[in-house]
Amino acid sequence: MKVDLHTHSNCSDGALTPQALLDSAAAAGVELLSITDHDVLSAYPGLRPPAGLRVLPGVEFSAAHGAGSLHVVGLGVDPAAPVLLDAAARQRAARERRAARIAAALAVLGVPQLFERACARAGDGPPARPDFAAVLVEAGCASDAKQAFKRYLGPGRRGDQHSDWPALAEVIGWIQAAGGRAVLAHPARYSLTRTRLNRLVGEFRAAGGDALEVISGRQSAPITHMLAQLATRHDLLASLGSDFHSPAQHWLRLGGQGPLPAGARPVWEGLEGRTVND
Ligand code: MN
Ligand code: MN
Ligand code: MN
Repeated sequence: MKVDLHTHSNCSDGALTPQALLDSAAAAGVELLSITDHDVLSAYPGLRPPAGLRVLPGVEFSAAHGAGSLHVVGLGVDPAAPVLLDAAARQRAARERRAARIAAALAVLGVPQLFERACARAGDGPPARPDFAAVLVEAGCASDAKQAFKRYLGPGRRGDQHSDWPALAEVIGWIQAAGGRAVLAHPARYSLTRTRLNRLVGEFRAAGGDALEVISGRQSAPITHMLAQLATRHDLLASLGSDFHSPAQHWLRLGGQGPLPAGARPVWEGLEGRTVND
């Protein structure tokens, strides 16, 4: 079965509308899909999956970890659960506070209306660093977005403001209270040593987490093998997904990641009754 349990629509930072994303997934032969937008569930009301495609409601929440952040995917949630709508509002408020801090930190550059222009670029949600980068380029502070990050927004620069995300256990709690399973997203992308990654997965399990994303996007076979072993060691279920954002990522195919390694226990088993179609 072709499965893809990590994708983004234009309800967060993806390029396609939720319906277009479903159509692309169906055309790619995906049979079970989740749209896991960043901190919002607005893809789900009124969503009509095409024939042959089952959709497991999902979300990708940001959580605090040490000085940084990590991502937790929730799968099989009730997308209309009040706990999740409250959570989405709280996450949005955290993004707004961060955007205000970035604007304040960059005020010294003297760009007129920096915050307002970043907001206008961001559209529906609060502006993030790429929106600020675009305004800085427009204002002539940098030649392109890459340089804007290097000078003003990247690690250690004045616009690199931390986000006050909730604790891991809290995010896991929201997902489970909405009937879903909590998955530690793309574990190989946090640039951790083996020892620290093992510790993180242990913490995730201790905080009540259910599963590990054993395959994320294009990933080497040894990494997949290592993550499957980690899932087994910590008694976690296994998930997989493309983390698809846009058709412009021509190296990524919806549903092109599987299958899970032998011995991995699929996170979607037992969630059959929770798809949009049911
Ligand atoms: Mn994203
Ligand atoms: Mn992520
Ligand atoms: Mn993602």
